[in-house]
Amino acid sequence: MELLFETAKLKFTRIINQLAENSVEKCYLCGKCTAGCPMAYEMDIQIHQIMRFLKLGEEKVLLKSRAIWQCVGCQTCSSRCPKEVDPASFVDALRVYATLTKQKASERAVEQFNYIFLEIIRHLGRIYEVGLVGLLNIFYMQPFRDIALAPKMVIGGKLNFIPHKIKGSKEIKRIFLACEELAQKDLKAKKELIEKEFQTTF
Ligand code: SF4
Ligand code: SF4
Repeated sequence: MELLFETAKLKFTRIINQLAENSVEKCYLCGKCTAGCPMAYEMDIQIHQIMRFLKLGEEKVLLKSRAIWQCVGCQTCSSRCPKEVDPASFVDALRVYATLTKQKASERAVEQFNYIFLEIIRHLGRIYEVGLVGLLNIFYMQPFRDIALAPKMVIGGKLNFIPHKIKGSKEIKRIFLACEELAQKDLKAKKELIEKEFQTTF
């Protein structure tokens, strides 16, 4: 039984290595990645700890963590890594794995933020802060959550109440479509890889 348990952990590490196209075993846990991470103060587990849990195959700990959704993908950790492990790619791989195996994100607000942000860009070609904040607050079921910030932002000219489309917004839509097509192909291949390892379908 113990052997089976260990095998499942090894399998998880192997899959994430494949999704990240790298090898977590190269990491020697120096912590340089965490020292430079701008989100470290907010994360429940730090990026070098993510690497440690990955080496151990701790799927549950990792998928429950808020950190994998809080990472902003700035790549600072990857650029600082002396072993060229590219830790940011492992965070991406964990998100992909969580999504493809239909596991609930522990930080749903991030998922929601990304969705609303991208939809606004898709339609307007630029960000529309009032719409973004308004829709997020509806998601939180607190429509007046940030209302105290509004007067200062209006005085500082930081808020435009009317959304503006950029001239090339049609081009932006085309870029989105092309990216989605590529992403779908990529996700399909990754899903097949996971299903093959687990010999099941998700
Ligand atoms: S900087 Fe690289 S080697 Fe050091 S802990 Fe982070 S991932 Fe591992
Ligand atoms: S990519 Fe993510 S984990 Fe790496 S430094 Fe940026 S926020 Fe931190």
